[in-house]
Amino acid sequence: MTGGGSGIGRAICRRLALEGAIVIVADLDADAADSVASGLAKPGLAVRLDVSSAEQVTAFAARIADHHGALDILVNNAGIVRDAPLHKMTDGDWVLAHNVISTGAFLMCRAFAPLLRLVPEDGHHRKVINMASVSGIYGRELSANYSAAKAGLIGLTKALAREWAPRQINVNAIAPGFIGGTGLTTPVDDGRTAMREDFLDRVVAQIPLGRGGVPEDISGVAAFLASTDSDYITGQVIEAHGGLEILRV
Ligand code: NAD
Repeated sequence: MTGGGSGIGRAICRRLALEGAIVIVADLDADAADSVASGLAKPGLAVRLDVSSAEQVTAFAARIADHHGALDILVNNAGIVRDAPLHKMTDGDWVLAHNVISTGAFLMCRAFAPLLRLVPEDGHHRKVINMASVSGIYGRELSANYSAAKAGLIGLTKALAREWAPRQINVNAIAPGFIGGTGLTTPVDDGRTAMREDFLDRVVAQIPLGRGGVPEDISGVAAFLASTDSDYITGQVIEAHGGLEILRV
């Protein structure tokens, strides 16, 4: 579980542990990962990990292979926002979004491929869940970097779903709309390193179901995609946004 130290990732860790999973909370923020892992319903493990580092991801996968020898569910959830108008977007903002979001998921899938592709004796499906975004489907202004990276993640999801289907590995994505109270949706002063408060207010005002989402709205979808109930679903992007299909703000 990447990006499990905060927000949506933390809610997914808690929900999957409640469902009986041994959750490995991997996050760039080691303290946050520790705090989440130590509070789970079933004992988990905390790991400091930068998903954009091939070296760290490879070492992490080797460690899990040595200690556990199996992996049933991989959730690629780590993400960042670095909003800016395109004409002011720096190379660093563009590259960082891609490195964390799409390359991070690629590195994780590749490193854990040997474990995920092992077909267990009972033939149960293994699950890959990628945290996309409505921005990757419909686009969002001031976020060309993020939207493009999330679109790339959706492409990765669909390609890998086909490639790994013969191994009974389901690969799906979730595309949340606005989920409040997370690191990404907590406004910051400069309006550039995260989403702007006025933007967030305008988005929430348009949500047909009448409220912004909470992390638990997404952890339930992840629990479904991690369960046997979704064994016949692969290559899909599940949109969870309260009916807000196109952000026109
Ligand atoms: P968040 O900031 O609370 O959580 C993101 C987590 O990812 C943090 O714990 C952070 O430390 C971690 N992280 C960042 N860079 C990392 C790296 N290089 N390696 C490992 N971990 C790293 O925000 P959130 O809203 O919970 O976001 C979770 C996911 O949901 C992201 O992929 C985000 O793009 C996606 N998402 C969020 C929303 C929303 O409205 N909150 C909407 C659509 C998609």
